[in-house]
Amino acid sequence: MISGEEAERLKDIEHRLLSMSVNATRSATCIVDAEGHLIYVNDGFVRLLGYAREEVIGQSPLIFFASDTRAKTYAQQVLEKLFGGQSNEISALISKRNGQRLWLHVSSTPVFDHQGKVENIVIVLTDITRTKLHEVLQDKIIGALLKEASLESVLTLLCQEIEHIAPEVAVSILSVDPAGILHPLASPGLPTDYSRAIEGLSIGPAKGSCGTAAYRGEPVLVTDIHHDPLWAEFRALAKLSGFQACWSVPVRNGAGRVAATFALYFRECRGPDPLHMHLVTAGIHLCMLALEREEARQSIRRMAFYDALTGLPNRNFLLAQAERILLEVAEEQAELAVLFVDLDRFKQVNDALGHASGDELLQVMAQRLRSVLRESDIVGRLSGDEFVLVLPRMNATQVTTFLERLMMILSVPATIAGTAVVVSASIGISLFPEDGRDMESLLHCADIAMYQAKRVERGSFSFFLEEMNKIAQERLMLETALRKALAGDGLHLVYQPQVDLRSGRLVGAEALARWVHPTLDHIAPSRFIPLAEECGLINALSQWVLREACEQLALWRREGLVVPSLSINLSPINFHNRNLAELIDRQLQLCDLQPRDLCVEVTEGVLLSSSAGTEQTIRDLHALGVRLAIDDFGTGYSSLGYLRRLPISELKLDKSFVDDLERDASCRALSESVIGIGKGLCLPVVAEGIEHAAQRDILMAQGYEVGQGYFFSIPLPSKAFAQWVMAHEAGFRAEVAGEVRDS
Ligand code: C2E
Ligand code: MG
Ligand code: MG
Repeated sequence: MISGEEAERLKDIEHRLLSMSVNATRSATCIVDAEGHLIYVNDGFVRLLGYAREEVIGQSPLIFFASDTRAKTYAQQVLEKLFGGQSNEISALISKRNGQRLWLHVSSTPVFDHQGKVENIVIVLTDITRTKLHEVLQDKIIGALLKEASLESVLTLLCQEIEHIAPEVAVSILSVDPAGILHPLASPGLPTDYSRAIEGLSIGPAKGSCGTAAYRGEPVLVTDIHHDPLWAEFRALAKLSGFQACWSVPVRNGAGRVAATFALYFRECRGPDPLHMHLVTAGIHLCMLALEREEARQSIRRMAFYDALTGLPNRNFLLAQAERILLEVAEEQAELAVLFVDLDRFKQVNDALGHASGDELLQVMAQRLRSVLRESDIVGRLSGDEFVLVLPRMNATQVTTFLERLMMILSVPATIAGTAVVVSASIGISLFPEDGRDMESLLHCADIAMYQAKRVERGSFSFFLEEMNKIAQERLMLETALRKALAGDGLHLVYQPQVDLRSGRLVGAEALARWVHPTLDHIAPSRFIPLAEECGLINALSQWVLREACEQLALWRREGLVVPSLSINLSPINFHNRNLAELIDRQLQLCDLQPRDLCVEVTEGVLLSSSAGTEQTIRDLHALGVRLAIDDFGTGYSSLGYLRRLPISELKLDKSFVDDLERDASCRALSESVIGIGKGLCLPVVAEGIEHAAQRDILMAQGYEVGQGYFFSIPLPSKAFAQWVMAHEAGFRAEVAGEVRDS
């Protein structure tokens, strides 16, 4: 049995030990009595809240909420519940003695007496300012980000939340563009005029707190902005702000560049306290998140609206922008021009120098197009090498002046992969309101006009005319019809004899394609061959010609008709096909013909697209043993060097030289030089388009050996040709027989 004295002593020891251990914990602890007065606070409490023991003992714990009535009411309710016997855990913002606020986790437990009445309440306080700040701010800001709020409203919310926690500060977030210019993003607590004045200021070594922080890339604290030299330039501005101190911290983006500044303004001369530092740390983190999301949004926008290669608006965005401009222009009753720009021979550059160089060229051209624009104009890339310019408030005359400048700028040689490349562009122009009232039709007209320009002369421009539209419609109709003809049996070949001028004997024949349209009747090759080339049908057409000609020759041979060889015409485009020789070889074998039975005619145009591929195809043909004739020789524009370089077997003197032989001395001089070239290079020259005996005689006198033309025969369908050959050979035999008899 312990005495009362002994019990008292033990209780005292117990209290001391308890008190020591409570004091040793980092947490703040206090005890409230049944009347709601503080009767005990530990050392941690003194440390945490900065109050001396004697200041708080006997007071209500509600004094810590003195400044915030809402929190105070809430705390009052909590206290009542505690006295009702319920323990409680809350987190609350509490002011320290010096006014600084802390976020505390408050855990309260009632202690009961023997009768079960609440005798005391033990309260344990833990500082959770850091985690809680992050949590509260993050909750709000991420919520706003998830709701897809705009950058401005997210950042404004961030400022407001921070200002709510620390009402003594105003928050300002500025963005810093890559050129080092400041733009206010959010600053709800600062006067609007103040923010407006900051817009466009540049960063520098003494540009207030933010400009300097961005410049140095480190936080800048100015505790007295009216006297600090960093603010020297901005005294008037500082007055406008109504603040005395400013602490600014740079915000770096993912790439490490200072993309923004995050600043706290204070009403008195002072620096940040630990809460402010926590707030800024959390704020910067969220600000970065919002900026990064904005950047991602922008890049998605760029991807959706801009062409990745040139950075120009893509088709959809261009059209949308153009429609908007069109509305404005229509309202003003002004004019507008749409230019469709297509680079000439871009494909050749791509083939010859490679795709990377092609891309580079497109970038250079896009830059040039951009450089000629006025502020109100727009340019976009439609696809490949096609660009569109929309020029509001420009009439036909103004456009012409503009075009001259544009074409000059475009034609300046560009250095691509170390090579100087000269590119021209064909441009089609349509005008609002004459040619169309909406973008779709204006673009369509400009496109048609561009085709017209290209057809007349590459590197030229053409305005859209109603006439052209008709031509385009017709072209479309013909294209469809040609596809049908190729798939069905709308095409046939005719054959024109080639004869030895001296003996008159048949040496070969040229196969020429004919198209009889169901309603339009005969359509000339000079119309449908270019059409087939433009709409991608030329390979199919040439394959059909090859097969038809070979099968016909094989049939004649089987029938015993002597046709020494057949010439077919191919388009320069066919020579882009690296399998051409193989294709011909297969067809010859199928028909049991020899390579020497076939001659391929092609114009000098084949050499214009002188990609390595074309020259190799020519060599492959030669290796196969098929002859290659240069058609319409003398009318081309290329140098004659290729005659030495490439395995050519024959030249065909163009019909235009033969036409005027009898009347025009210069024609005679030209045909003479062509046969000279042929003789010099040991190449036979076939004279085309001989219509009269006189022409034949002149050509013979000049040394031509083979001729072709209406004088001998017009091109004939296969049956008529066979009859011609039989009659011709019969006549020939009769002649020879007569000669034999006479001798
Ligand atoms: P080309 O190969 O130079 O064919 C000669 C053209 O002159 C043919 O016109 C022929 O009918 C015409 N001609 C022949 N002798 C005379 C004459 O004495 N007087 C006149 N005034 N003309 C004569 P066509 O058949 O209209 O062909 C025109 C061009 O179309 C051809 O010129 C050729 O470049 C091209 N072409 C014709 N058929 C084909 C083909 O199957 N494939 C390809 N790729 N082109 C073809
Ligand atoms: Mg020909
Ligand atoms: Mg010809």
